[in-house]
Amino acid sequence: MKIYLNGNLVDEKDAVVSVFDHGLLYGDGVFEGTRVYDNNVAFLDEHMQRLLDSAKVIALEPGITKEELIKATVETCKANNLENGYLRHVITRGVGTLGLNPYLCKNTQVIIIAADIQLYPDELYANGMKLVTASTTRNSPGTLSPRVKSLNYLNNIMAKIEAINSGVNECLLLNAQGYIAEASGDNVFAVKGNKLITPPTWCGALEGVTRNKVMKAARDLGMEVSETVMTRYELWTADEVFLTGTAAEVIAVVALDRRTIGSGMPGPVTKKLGRAYRELAGTEGVRIQ
Ligand code: PMP
Repeated sequence: MKIYLNGNLVDEKDAVVSVFDHGLLYGDGVFEGTRVYDNNVAFLDEHMQRLLDSAKVIALEPGITKEELIKATVETCKANNLENGYLRHVITRGVGTLGLNPYLCKNTQVIIIAADIQLYPDELYANGMKLVTASTTRNSPGTLSPRVKSLNYLNNIMAKIEAINSGVNECLLLNAQGYIAEASGDNVFAVKGNKLITPPTWCGALEGVTRNKVMKAARDLGMEVSETVMTRYELWTADEVFLTGTAAEVIAVVALDRRTIGSGMPGPVTKKLGRAYRELAGTEGVRIQ
């Protein structure tokens, strides 16, 4: 496997960063996860824009432009003959002292890893997934904005531990006010009649690329789509609930905290939006060749 590291494609064994890198010491950096479908890097522009926006918010000067990132991504895919898979972009603050001061870090590290995708088992797509609500609340926007896709994912990991300990794959995170934020690694939607709702980002959600595409697809299909402050009431009483994310795509949620949602099986709207999203992901983006 060839890894992109600061302008070079190097062997996996040579793709190393220092133990003094603040990405390791403090989770000081940003990342992205992007999919490749049949030589199409889906929504690459949107992902690179979010990477740069995340970097800007944490005052990290990436030393690379969006156009350069796109070019480097295509080169990395080519070097690995990656036609289908998952890309991980990482920008760390770089090597510094053992103190926090990010301004003492000299060189940001820009990394692109081309990998296989680890999908949820087929059974979960066929029958839907069960969620529990985590007792860990989502970071409030005034601490570390959930809109920043930072290397510090402990908030999400703490919640994920609760899901796994409860015997399910994913969990719902509420914000400090008790309103729904998102799942630990996906956005959440509810369907009621012809209406599709999802929490606004200020409630504690990442502005998911999949989220945006699914909202557009739903509007194109004639649904009434809105960002709405939500409690679990809206999920428990919905016709359908689903999660969206680059890795998960669109996946049905059939139970939350032991309350069955809708029919208890993936519903027609979830399936339709899943197909519409797949269509977009195969066509919108940057072609590798
Ligand atoms: N929320 C969180 C916390 C995530 O990590 C992700 C995955 N990147 C998402 C939502 C979904 O975002 P996207 O659709 O851009 O993958």
